[in-house]
Amino acid sequence: MTRDLDPSTVVVHAGRPERVPDAPVGESPVFSSTYVAGGDRGYGRFGNDAWTALEETLGQLEGGRGLAFASGMAAAAAIMDLVPVGGRVVAPEHAYSGVLALLDQQTATGRLTVERVNVADTEGVARAVAGADLLWIESPTNPAMEVADIPALAAAGHTAGATVVVDNTFATPLLQQPLRLGADVVMHSATKFIAGHSDVILGAVVTADDELRSAIELRRRSLGAIPGSMDAWLALRGLRTLALRLERAQSNAAFLAERLLQHPKVSRVRYPGLPDDPGHDRAAAQMSGFGAILSVELGGDAAAAQKVCESTELWVHATSLGGVESMLERRRRWPIEVPTIPEDLIRLSVGIEHPDDLWSDLEQALSSST
Ligand SMILES: *Cc1c(COP(=O)(O)O)cnc(C)c1O
Repeated sequence: MTRDLDPSTVVVHAGRPERVPDAPVGESPVFSSTYVAGGDRGYGRFGNDAWTALEETLGQLEGGRGLAFASGMAAAAAIMDLVPVGGRVVAPEHAYSGVLALLDQQTATGRLTVERVNVADTEGVARAVAGADLLWIESPTNPAMEVADIPALAAAGHTAGATVVVDNTFATPLLQQPLRLGADVVMHSATKFIAGHSDVILGAVVTADDELRSAIELRRRSLGAIPGSMDAWLALRGLRTLALRLERAQSNAAFLAERLLQHPKVSRVRYPGLPDDPGHDRAAAQMSGFGAILSVELGGDAAAAQKVCESTELWVHATSLGGVESMLERRRRWPIEVPTIPEDLIRLSVGIEHPDDLWSDLEQALSSST
């Protein structure tokens, strides 16, 4: 080929079996707990062809080598385990609540110390990262939609000698490649956009650093946080259509963000694609699109926001995101959500339905609140 392939082509073709006569076109799940002695693989906890295909595809997209995990949290836990006992982690004030809860647990047992920062405040993060072992970044953040300056934070983290990790779940490997922006490790909840159909829990790590990769792979083996072959295959099958799904979901999200901004019952729309959003310029500089998640505040109490979530007919009232079906929820309905997330904040994961149908259902649900 005379040109570098576009990521929307790579996502379709990477990680496929070699094209020899009668080879299958795509990888299949392999249901074997062990392998005949004499080869490199040995045992089902050490490798599986379906993982490898998914890992190669994610690796090519992100610019590193992938590792599949049983869940996004399993991937996050394996990365956190790299921090030495008594080590220091700098993490976002707002980020996926499960990751923050994991850090709280590790602080409570004395394993780590954690300093929480606003990832949008580049200078604040640079100050906090001095002496840290690991800088955890999420961008855009779940569900506050703040945007971190990844190149600047990666540089600050490296000056301080910290390993820089980016949770790239919201952006997906198609819209943002943190390794190319200077990060050491990328983590995904592949449960979300990568698998894309709300039918599998899966995680992934990608790094271009072989030493880090071996250390993380060793943890996958020893902590046993391995995905099932069928789940890895489902995620791979979902991933093949990510470019198309995102194209539609993103244009739906942009359309809905504009509509919501005009709606009298909406007091704030958080979406980096809006020109007035505080993260807009940064997101435009480091992402090739603004994604399909947005958050809205209604300016009322929790009950009114809850009523809206319970009044939709098309939008699914459920947690999670990144599926083909649009979903919404009030994040503070979860006791572990960070208290500085407003009580009336609703996170919307925009799917691939027709935008007019999505809007008409939201309008109908908004009119139910007083
Ligand atoms: C869902 C999510 C996770 C956790 O992933 P699981 O696959 O549910 O374990 C981590 N980070 C972000 C940003 C998420 O949305």
